[in-house]
Amino acid sequence: MFIPKRILFMKGSLDYQVGRQIHAYFKDNSKVEIIELGNHGIKKNIPGDDISEFYRHGKRTLVVGIRRGMKFQSCKPSAHYQLPLLSGCIGQCEYCYLNTNLGDRPYMRVNVNVDEILEQAGKNIEERLPEVTIFEGSATSDPIPVEPYTHSLKQAIQYFSKTEKGRFRFVTKYTDVDTLLDVNHGGHTEVRFTLNTDRVIQDFENGTPLMSKRIEAARKIMSADYPTGFLIAPVFLYDHWQDDYKNLLLELKDIIPKNTSYPVTFEVISHRYTPRAKNIITKIFPDTKLPMEDEERTYKYGQFGYGKYTYRKEELEEIKSFFKKEIPAVFPDGVVKYII
Ligand code: SF4
Repeated sequence: MFIPKRILFMKGSLDYQVGRQIHAYFKDNSKVEIIELGNHGIKKNIPGDDISEFYRHGKRTLVVGIRRGMKFQSCKPSAHYQLPLLSGCIGQCEYCYLNTNLGDRPYMRVNVNVDEILEQAGKNIEERLPEVTIFEGSATSDPIPVEPYTHSLKQAIQYFSKTEKGRFRFVTKYTDVDTLLDVNHGGHTEVRFTLNTDRVIQDFENGTPLMSKRIEAARKIMSADYPTGFLIAPVFLYDHWQDDYKNLLLELKDIIPKNTSYPVTFEVISHRYTPRAKNIITKIFPDTKLPMEDEERTYKYGQFGYGKYTYRKEELEEIKSFFKKEIPAVFPDGVVKYII
């Protein structure tokens, strides 16, 4: 669970139940600084003279605010809309896409007007009838570490359980799932866990739980009968990487329940980076050991108009053929959605 060093309550946020819950939870904790702000002033209240310091202090800051605009961003290809309950993440994964997308906003932000956000989701569902509309709860965040005191995922899960054509999904590396276990989800929320080998976690995923802890959280979620998936990402090539990823699959199989109501899904993404991301990462993590030698990679133009450095063709083929063979071997009933 995220215990912030400081919480910035934006104007009006304490008029909402989620804001009051967070305040009540931390008000007697002398290690947490509570600051009430107007409509502005977030950056002024987070110390740090350069990008790296600001990032580190930002990661220990919780901003409690109100979502003003109600036009949701699209979230192709995995969902129709982003559900803007939160943004930011407490993790410090060196390769994280948020370093680029939210570079100047590294803090965790919780939007307290959950009812209004869900009401808007209802309108979006109506507009697309009779089609199903899928909402992504983690497009710009990992929402789990604040859930024990916000309960906003719980509220969303309950909401979508009652919609005939609305679906919800989110992905996490964290383990604070206990408050979600007795929620009536109706099978309308899919929870995905991002897994990686302990070596990758130790080298690059600072401040995130070990593989065994994530698998234990997945076991709990699957026992509560949620549709569940696993994102194995980013895959890195290093000596004996096949052994480590194979062990990950075997450990997962040992721990998670058999005979679940929904097939277990897998998505596999190899490591890639944009030139812009590399530039930011090397400023925030000057000693990073992330493999980002451009000459060892292939530059590919993507569908969103900017290019990425991926592993070379033969290496990508090696990754694909490994997971294509090993996932079905360990999980004969699993569904491999894609390997890229
Ligand atoms: S846990 Fe996910 S969202 Fe958070 S820093 Fe790591 S990669 Fe980024």
